[in-house]
Amino acid sequence: MKGLCILGATGSIGVSTLDVVARHPERYRVVALTGHRRIEDLYRQCLRHRPAYAVVGEEGDAAALQQRLGEAGLDTQVLHGQEGLTTVATLPEVDYVMAAIVGAAGLLPTLAAARAGKRILLANKEALVVSGPVFMEAVREADAELLPIDSEHNAIFQCMPAGYRAGHPPAAVRRILLTASGGPFLDTPLERLPHVTPEQAVAHPKWDMGKKISVDSATMMNKGLEVIEACLLFDLPPERIQVVIHPQSVVHSLVDYDDGSVLAELGNPDMRIPIAYGMAWPERIDSGVEPLDLFDVARLDFREPDFDRFPCLKLAFEAARAGGTAPALLNAANEVAVAAFLERRIPFTAIAEVIAATLDAIPASTAADLDSVLAADAEARRHAESLVAR
Ligand code: NAD
Ligand code: MG
Repeated sequence: MKGLCILGATGSIGVSTLDVVARHPERYRVVALTGHRRIEDLYRQCLRHRPAYAVVGEEGDAAALQQRLGEAGLDTQVLHGQEGLTTVATLPEVDYVMAAIVGAAGLLPTLAAARAGKRILLANKEALVVSGPVFMEAVREADAELLPIDSEHNAIFQCMPAGYRAGHPPAAVRRILLTASGGPFLDTPLERLPHVTPEQAVAHPKWDMGKKISVDSATMMNKGLEVIEACLLFDLPPERIQVVIHPQSVVHSLVDYDDGSVLAELGNPDMRIPIAYGMAWPERIDSGVEPLDLFDVARLDFREPDFDRFPCLKLAFEAARAGGTAPALLNAANEVAVAAFLERRIPFTAIAEVIAATLDAIPASTAADLDSVLAADAEARRHAESLVAR
């Protein structure tokens, strides 16, 4: 029986994780669930899974939830804030931590889980992108198990040589081929892009996800963050990662070996596949996902990405090459710009402009320790906020 902490339980990944957990009550026990502002959803999840701990963002919400859970006969302890998140991510009774908070807000608890030597199921790519080598060093030092949940990285991990552990250079791998759906605006005429709405941007053709990652998919910043994520997880330089647009989202990524063999992982686009894989590794369990019907898929297309259409992807490659705090600056500016776009304060095409201007204004430095990446994150947020303020 493994004790599970789900950071970001009320989100898209969190809900899919609980779906997998419910299929295997003999294997997993839910120890902690966190939900930030979605208190009603978290309340219902607590009733269903009876965790020992729940965490919300604000102290007032914690008190109210504590009272309601008490009235419902549960002895769940409700904590709040970053401190509450870090507490539950490092509990001795927690074996596995699903890192599914969105954005850099998930960094500190995820890093704490790594330092505590937990198995980390990493969906929260921003946490890794921001802290980069600091995070990977913590994983190696504590001998934590890092299992990528991002579907592409999970696919790559599955195609790695037997016994492979994330954070080490893989033997005889020539390149990683990172697939991308291309998002909802793959074929939209370029002159229409400044006018697309948040509703159109979050309507992803293949994946049902949270709003922020859906916008990132539309700009392809999601793939940019994933390039940086892949460099860190698989210890490869960005030149050895090729982004391939594959609109069907059936091939989740590929590994190209020195002998010319290319291994791929395929499946229906459903995050329960990588989640179940990460939870059961090195075994495999039922994820609840329908078998892949290749006759239904019928064809697989592959295209080269267009950097004029997707300037965010280009900016991310540049940040990956620059290294140091550049990925943290890129990510912070992107988080601010995406939030401003979702609030209709800036047009879609201004997202890339805000990021480029932030990267131009703030020089990257070495990401020597946690303080330097947090300082870079804060500075980039301030600068990007000043650009989107109206
Ligand atoms: P979501 O918006 O659906 O859920 C986000 C979760 O984080 C919620 O539980 C929310 O309560 C919590 N949260 C938000 N802000 C917080 C804060 N400031 N402090 C603490 N908790 C906070 O997002 P999602 O789509 O589930 O994505 C979660 C992470 O997984 C992201 O990093 C995303 O890039 C990654 N990911 C998601 C998918 C997917 O299919 N949804 C696929 C690959 C990777
Ligand atoms: Mg992905």
